[in-house]
Amino acid sequence: SLDAQWAVAWTRAAAAAVAEHRAELVELDRQIGDGDHGENLHRGFTAVVQRLDALPEAPAQVGEVLKLVATTLMSTVGGAAGPLYGTAYLRAAKVTAAEVLDSAGVVALLEAALEGIVVRGKAGVGEKTMVDAWTPAVEAAVTAADAGAEPAAVLRAAADAAEEGARSTIPLVATKGRASYLGERSAGHLDPGSASTALILRAAAGAAS
Ligand code: ADP
Ligand code: MG
Ligand code: MG
Repeated sequence: SLDAQWAVAWTRAAAAAVAEHRAELVELDRQIGDGDHGENLHRGFTAVVQRLDALPEAPAQVGEVLKLVATTLMSTVGGAAGPLYGTAYLRAAKVTAAEVLDSAGVVALLEAALEGIVVRGKAGVGEKTMVDAWTPAVEAAVTAADAGAEPAAVLRAAADAAEEGARSTIPLVATKGRASYLGERSAGHLDPGSASTALILRAAAGAAS
């Protein structure tokens, strides 16, 4: 089962992954957006790690960590991704009051995150947004948990599906977000938000194993 220590490890790993892939995320967003996605997220996760480092004692609950991430991303990321990821983490924080997460708890966390993104951004599958990574991730997590998988395996299934979901955005024409301004010309490029989603979920799986 996954505890607050896992949530901290996930957060630090997500920050490291965003730092490592910052230029790549910028380049993806340069192709169909305004080229700031990597910078936006890097600024946000750097602030998150600073706030984690400044805590007087280690967080006791998963929800506490997720809430810190939510509020920090909301106030530092900006753009479309700030409120979207902020709402995702905030919703996830609210369903993780339990001290440790079992597989059902992991599914609940991911479902709540996706719900937050959809409530905030109103995008459905196929609109070439991060929803195209989150939706198959949640579906894969549900399937894995139903089959009796351990939390770490549920997260691995979610990360695998998110990566595939991100790749699935390449041929799509964007109908939400900045990329939609390009119309048909948005096709042939991977959506940056779905790429960052895959990084964040891979970090969650890595921290669990
Ligand atoms: P901005 O577009 O304001 O510069 P970012 O570059 O940080 O913001 O984030 C862009 C990403 O946000 C897109 O790649 C897409 O995945 C995601 N996005 C944009 N609009 C929406 C939406 N309505 N619903 C879900 N995701 C969205
Ligand atoms: Mg952008
Ligand atoms: Mg921008």
